[in-house]
Amino acid sequence: MIEPNKAVTVGQRPGVADQNVLILGSGIAGITTALELSEMGISSTILERRDRLGGQAAVFACKASEKCNKCFACVVDNQIQEVSRRSGIRILTESTLGKISGDPGRFKVQIQSGGNESRLEASVILVATGVDFFNARQKPEYGYGLFQNVITAQDLDEMLHAKGRVLRPSDGQVPSRIAFFQCVGSRDETIGHLWCSKVCCAYALRFMKAIRHQYPEIETSFFYIDIQPLGRSFESLLEACRQDERMHLIRSLPSKVYGHRTSTDLRIRFIDPVSGGITEEGFDLIVLSIGMTPREDADQVADLLHVPKNEEGFYRSPPPDSGIFVSGACKGPRDIGGSIIDAKATAREIAQYLGGV
Ligand SMILES: Cc1cc2nc3c(=O)[nH]c(=O)nc-3n(C[C@H](O)[C@H](O)[C@H](O)COP(=O)(O)OP(=O)(O)OC[C@H]3O[C@@H](n4cnc5c(N)ncnc54)[C@H](O)[C@@H]3O)c2cc1C
Ligand code: SF4
Ligand code: SF4
Repeated sequence: MIEPNKAVTVGQRPGVADQNVLILGSGIAGITTALELSEMGISSTILERRDRLGGQAAVFACKASEKCNKCFACVVDNQIQEVSRRSGIRILTESTLGKISGDPGRFKVQIQSGGNESRLEASVILVATGVDFFNARQKPEYGYGLFQNVITAQDLDEMLHAKGRVLRPSDGQVPSRIAFFQCVGSRDETIGHLWCSKVCCAYALRFMKAIRHQYPEIETSFFYIDIQPLGRSFESLLEACRQDERMHLIRSLPSKVYGHRTSTDLRIRFIDPVSGGITEEGFDLIVLSIGMTPREDADQVADLLHVPKNEEGFYRSPPPDSGIFVSGACKGPRDIGGSIIDAKATAREIAQYLGGV
């Protein structure tokens, strides 16, 4: 957290207040950085390619059960409200970056908004372009897009966010047996994604907790390889799930889903971790816990701004004197809390850089 008095000191340095930071992306990383900079008296322009703010997390549902399960979705809502009313932050939606010229500390940037083109000057460019969520169609054995009752965690979030209820897409009925498949698109050599997406164990367990609270009669099963802890309250969340007799944590990943388009008895086969034998079970809703991948256009932005990447394709921080900074999940999988911490640290680095320009 940046203390307000420290913030005022930086903002009062001659010249700093006039400097404009161009922020690419209005996800939680981009808007948190803009808010932190504004506390320090530094103005910014947020460029967002979509027609709304908040990035991927803007459509996440509240996953509270009898208590808050600390998913951070409401924090994103609050930050969106805050950034929209804060002075010194200009927001351009449905806008993308065009040509860039000038030098670090004095970039001249072309912006395309709809059919219009405009220009602005920026002292610093912050890349907070986030991630793509894994496309579950790349795992055809799970039948996403083929079986209506196989959905992704993103679909479930959107359903809960919009309707407040969990329903089977095939017939709009409340399901009775839900399976969560972990590590979909992560830690998977067959698709070359070796990284752990870090957030999906926690979000799936929170979903299960929230669903069991809302529908005490539903059985849920969680199929996993390893459980990746995340956040301070993770252990108590996991323990609560373990204690619930209608939540089954099964250390095995199903190989395939069998059924037909509208099937409410989707069959899955997996190795029973207790007996070691192959076993089969039926579910009427399967949720694929998809992970995060570098954005499809990550190379384009990297080439334009000379941002280095790691071997997985996520961004690394460029040298600080380049005037280009990077923040949030575009540097690698992290949750909302982790993105906020990173954004606050980046805002401090930017203020320091501007103080020296
Ligand atoms: C299925 C799923 C569920 C999750 N659930 C949770 C959860 O419950 N709790 C939690 O803490 N975390 C959760 N996460 C993680 C969470 O999504 C990330 O932590 C968060 O979205 C990262 O924010 P960000 O700002 O870095 O990126 P993003 O949210 O990806 O935002 C980036 C923004 O940049 C914009 N953009 C991209 N390129 C450009 C460009 N060239 N020009 C202009 N704009 C651009 C995008 O349109 C987007 O709005 C989940 C992740 C997944 C995969
Ligand atoms: S569960 Fe998530 S959205 Fe709901 S109150 Fe807690 S942090 Fe906020
Ligand atoms: S967080 Fe859990 S589900 Fe996600 S990739 Fe890591 S181990 Fe797999």
